[in-house]
Formats: sequence, structure tokens, C-alpha cells
Amino acid sequence: MDKADIANDYIEWRTEEAINAQRYQPSAVASRAICKECDAPIPAARRKALPGVQLCVGCQSVLEGR
Ligand SMILES: [Zn+2]
Repeated sequence: MDKADIANDYIEWRTEEAINAQRYQPSAVASRAICKECDAPIPAARRKALPGVQLCVGCQSVLEGR
């Protein structure tokens, strides 16, 4: 393997990583202080327990109960 091959592999790897980072962005967002559905405040304890949480307890249970 020469230097060009190594560079190509590196570029491919970086590109793949960038695509994956974008693809998984929605689940990697910071926890919300306010529920996405009903605008109720989400307690800090819940945000800490569930990194990236978007919904309050009420909306989450409705969603999971479906
Ligand atoms: Zn809610």
C-alpha cells in the first residue's frame, strides 16, 4: 500500500464518518428543557436520566402506549 492508497482510505473514512454524523444528528441533539409536544417543562432529573430526551413524561407515555 503506497501513500496515495492510505490517503484515499483516510478520505473515505472521513467522508463516511461525516455522513454518519449527519444521519444520526436527530438522536444526538441535546436534551430539551421544554417538551416538544406540549411545551411542558422537562425536569432536570429526567433530562439527566435520558440524554437527548425530547418529550415530557406524559407525552412519552402516550407515545409508548400507542
Ligand atoms: Zn409533553
